[in-house]
Amino acid sequence: MPSPSPSYLRLAIPTPLRRLFDYLPPEGMLDQELSPGLRVKVPFGRSTVIGILHSVVQQTDVPASKLRRATEIIDAQPLLPPSILKLLLWAGEYYHHPMGEVMQNALPVLLREGRPAEVRGLSHWLLSEAGSVIDTVTLGRAKKQAALLALLQEHRELGAEQLQPLMNSWHEPMRRLQEKGWVEQQERSCLQVNIDTTNDKNLLLNPEQQHAVEQLCARLGQFHSALLEGVTGSGKTEVYLQIIEQVLARGEQALVLVPEIGLTPQLLQRFRSRFSVPIAVLHSSLSDQERLCAWLKSGEGEAAIVIGTRSAVFTPLARPGLIIIDEEHDASFKQQEGFRYSARDLGIKRARDECIPILLGSATPSLESLHNALSGRFAHLPLKQRAGAAQAPTMSLLDIRSQSMETGLSAQLIEAVRQTLEKDEQVLLFLNRRGFSPILMCHDCGWVSACKRCDANLTFYRQHNRLRCNHCGSEQRVEPACPACGSVDLRDIGHGTEKIEESLVALFPHETIVRIDRDNTRRKGSLEALLAQAQSGEARILLGTQMLAKGHHFANVTLVGILDSDQGLFSSDFRAAERMAQLIIQVAGRAGRAEKPGRVLIQTHHPDHPLLLSLIRHGYQGYAEAALAERKLAEMPPYSHLALIRAEAVDASLPFDFLQEALSCCLALNLPEVQAWGPVPAPMERRAGRYRAQLLLQSSQRAPLHKLLQQLAPQLEGLKSARKVRWSLDVDPSEMF
Ligand code: ADP
Ligand code: ZN
Ligand code: ZN
Repeated sequence: MPSPSPSYLRLAIPTPLRRLFDYLPPEGMLDQELSPGLRVKVPFGRSTVIGILHSVVQQTDVPASKLRRATEIIDAQPLLPPSILKLLLWAGEYYHHPMGEVMQNALPVLLREGRPAEVRGLSHWLLSEAGSVIDTVTLGRAKKQAALLALLQEHRELGAEQLQPLMNSWHEPMRRLQEKGWVEQQERSCLQVNIDTTNDKNLLLNPEQQHAVEQLCARLGQFHSALLEGVTGSGKTEVYLQIIEQVLARGEQALVLVPEIGLTPQLLQRFRSRFSVPIAVLHSSLSDQERLCAWLKSGEGEAAIVIGTRSAVFTPLARPGLIIIDEEHDASFKQQEGFRYSARDLGIKRARDECIPILLGSATPSLESLHNALSGRFAHLPLKQRAGAAQAPTMSLLDIRSQSMETGLSAQLIEAVRQTLEKDEQVLLFLNRRGFSPILMCHDCGWVSACKRCDANLTFYRQHNRLRCNHCGSEQRVEPACPACGSVDLRDIGHGTEKIEESLVALFPHETIVRIDRDNTRRKGSLEALLAQAQSGEARILLGTQMLAKGHHFANVTLVGILDSDQGLFSSDFRAAERMAQLIIQVAGRAGRAEKPGRVLIQTHHPDHPLLLSLIRHGYQGYAEAALAERKLAEMPPYSHLALIRAEAVDASLPFDFLQEALSCCLALNLPEVQAWGPVPAPMERRAGRYRAQLLLQSSQRAPLHKLLQQLAPQLEGLKSARKVRWSLDVDPSEMF
């Protein structure tokens, strides 16, 4: 009998190299059935890494002398089911990204580190009432118990994971505290189940909602993609809920992707109060253990609904039934570093693979999705009316040219705010600029507060008397005198939310003002607290950045003021106008969501700008139609396909050297259907101390572009000049810098 031919393990390994790696199986494992998706521990260079089994092959190009042996097969069962593995392999090829890094992205941190795929360590310890009044001094020489008790008195409760870094060997003293009755242990589940759903019943759908639900439900069990284009307040969420109800009735799971969970606690609340099924929520403040638990329970089918952000698109599901992408236009669905995938696009691919429907929802769909809907590739499900009794808000422009604007607020807007408050209604003011002012300037010599590491100004934060760069994060104290000429006449130029807040306090001294931006919502729970103040009506003036634009429902807001609409009008990024239009409509959508009608006032220096005019006259639809026509003429997406090669280095010439070579490679590949533009400096050339440049590839068809990238990517890896820069390949870039 001939001896069996040797098998090799072909692995995806987390390295920046675009290839798979072959290994000998661990000693004595030759005859075992090994399925793709298992984790394998292997030596790599001088370290040990975790790879994912791609396939078992009978032949390898690696010479026998170089072939190394895998150390261990970690899992008994494949960690990634075939459907996810297939999705990842496809994604790696589509985005021309190293497969090992692609796989890493799909795994919870603990699994990346090689920990067992099982739930453990979700215990929590809570301070009991008795424990909260104990003076730790009474514990005398039991130092550890005293320290633990002090920690618990500070935090009220702590999980094993939080305790680990704070103190070693804390289990025994904790047990002692439990014996004394000062501490209680609780086992947590990562799934949330709400038992009492009696207060929340399905709403009676209006005809458009009804149509959307029926259309989608008729296609459960098959691939189907639909765009739910519903104006703000049209009841998209109710449509999601009623479709999900039918998915659950079939015994299937629903995966819901949202832009940012922390920003929309209300959405979560609505899912929880409607369904009495286990819900897994994959949000950023989960501990690693909780995340692993939620991931595993989704894959086992225990979680009926899985809600998460971008990376949740890779969550395994035992019985997938539906994918929903809420606010599908949101930029956060595209990862902007490393593996630059679009969760929306991969969601569509996944739905196709799993033969289930996918529903994209938005009041302001991306031009790509709108194009797909208009051309018949997606079903188009419009909701043109606001749900219930609410009406669409009226929008108008406030011409602020040559108005006195000392406060950043025009006299007209201030008057409108006053009238609204008099009626005991709420006002929402929107300014997408943080800090006190975007510039600090010397009145005597013209010095401005520029970042030393970026081509950008430092934002002035007066409350903390600091200058901070919102691009690289560098920070410094404000010196009392101008660093250039010594003058003390330093002036803040322009307005940020901090300054507007101050103006508002002066104008409306008896009002509670809630300001919401990244700066004052960093601490856990602070956003919820601020939103609660807005919700209860305690605060009648709400001021904020785009954090305030997303999905919130404030029933009593009847006036929305957009303080500066001019930011997005003149950007070099062709998508900036689209973003601006989306933002304006989303913010405007916070007005008049209940019985009282709302109005929106938009301050601008460009009252004749076609973008603003088409927006206020014809709404987002009107704007989008005009924008699509423009894109078609300019042969920009969705009428063409792009890939962007970026490079950066401390030395300004190196990125250009690399991109010039990349360009030569492109030309040598001789694919005339693909045009190359550049290399050119990035719109913000210097950022965090590095010079950045880019080369844009464009093609009217997808296929030739990908054919080129497939050959180009490995060539780029091999270039000498590539070693001197940081470079990346961005397929379907959503930002041009
Ligand atoms: P969207 O997500 O489209 O912005 P929401 O789903 O938040 O809109 O709905 C806005 C409001 O309208 C919510 O308060 C919701 O309860 C209410 N609503 C939705 N559908 C209906 C309906 N068919 N009848 C009455 N009220 C509805
Ligand atoms: Zn000066
Ligand atoms: Zn900077």
